[in-house]
Amino acid sequence: MTQHTIFSARRARLAAQLGAGGVAIIPTAPEQRRNRDSDYPYRHDSYFYYLTGFAEPDAWLVLDAAGRSTLFCRPKDEEREIWTGLRLGPQAAPAALGVEAAYSVDELEQRLPQLLAGAQALWLPFGVHQGLFERAEGWLEELRAKARAGVQPPAQLRDVCALLDEMRLIKDGDEQRLMRRAGAISAAGHVRAMRRCAAMLRAGQQPCEYHLEAELLHAFRDAGAQGVAYPSIVAAGANACVLHYPAGSAPCREGDIVLIDAGCELDGYAGDISRSFPAGGRFTAPQRALYEVVLAAQQAAIDACRAGARFDAPHNAALAILTQGLLDLGLIDRRRHPDVQTALAQRAYLPFYMHRTSHWLGMDVHDCGSYTEAGEKGAARILHPGMVLTIEPGLYVRPAEGVPERYWNTGIRIEDDAIVTDAGCELITRDVPVEPNDIEALMRQDYILHK
Ligand code: CA
Repeated sequence: MTQHTIFSARRARLAAQLGAGGVAIIPTAPEQRRNRDSDYPYRHDSYFYYLTGFAEPDAWLVLDAAGRSTLFCRPKDEEREIWTGLRLGPQAAPAALGVEAAYSVDELEQRLPQLLAGAQALWLPFGVHQGLFERAEGWLEELRAKARAGVQPPAQLRDVCALLDEMRLIKDGDEQRLMRRAGAISAAGHVRAMRRCAAMLRAGQQPCEYHLEAELLHAFRDAGAQGVAYPSIVAAGANACVLHYPAGSAPCREGDIVLIDAGCELDGYAGDISRSFPAGGRFTAPQRALYEVVLAAQQAAIDACRAGARFDAPHNAALAILTQGLLDLGLIDRRRHPDVQTALAQRAYLPFYMHRTSHWLGMDVHDCGSYTEAGEKGAARILHPGMVLTIEPGLYVRPAEGVPERYWNTGIRIEDDAIVTDAGCELITRDVPVEPNDIEALMRQDYILHK
């Protein structure tokens, strides 16, 4: 399929769900001011991009139930384009994007009431774009003013995200291909960062969190990814116990575990990997003991991840292993929680493991899609082939009374991305190792700048 037929096919699938007389209006994201006259790097809206493959700002898609697509986009403007880059422009848009019609975004206000005339239902993304409902109110008012001419405004307002979330939850072949590539590039970044850390210590230099972050960024951009899918977490020693710690300037010392949670964004799709490794390339015995528990928990979660299982099956599998491990290592007090069932029921793992094991992954790192099964009163979602989720158990040990000191200030998370298949799941991020012996072997290898 050529690029635009993938997007045309998605629009046709959405159109078929709008119901007779339905019209959907989906804007892309606005540009965001950073400071003075500098903007943040532009990131399109995921819903809009899913349906168009169009990454310019100031664009709108109008789709009707008959499958007719109208795009509003920035007009060609030679002078502006010299400063801010080439624009596709409405003239070239139909051939490039497969839309039936395209106009300048300057004509949006004037043309939208016409496009909505006679529509029965207006579908908008709810809770995504500030000010969208106020604008829609204006178009509807204009239609109502023409009531005497026989024009009726749509009688229903509905959430188009409800339809799109379900579509986006199952990744099609094109999306899976991109996500495999995003996973491989993200893994290459982790490999670089691990090697750099150990190599600097071997050379008598002091690696800091920012050195490792630089390796991630290098690998991502070098492979053609547009950037990071989310701010990279590079956390040395005690910092790893702060779940959303951003890469800072702390030194990675011999004896520290470094936790990296980072992934690239490739053509709108996110990779999301966590690895935890010894800064100097060798786990201490207590570090390895904790690490083995998290790794076993991850394997149990992976084994529980398959089509037909519930979304929370991997989490429950991981929790049982983590809790048993915490009991075995003496982090959970056996006198208060004599066995794993009691410890699980009393959630004795909570001081050490306070997040869920999985989230949906796709264009958004915490991707859209309901986590519960419709009509089953909160029962967890049943997994289907093509769903993509992270599998990321962890243990975070802060200094605390009753917790053996040898485990203090150690944060370990192991995270891989999985595509659900009929038989199980396909891990798309294993180009960076997880076995402790493999990590140590990798970190012993010489750091090669351009690999
Ligand atoms: Ca993550």
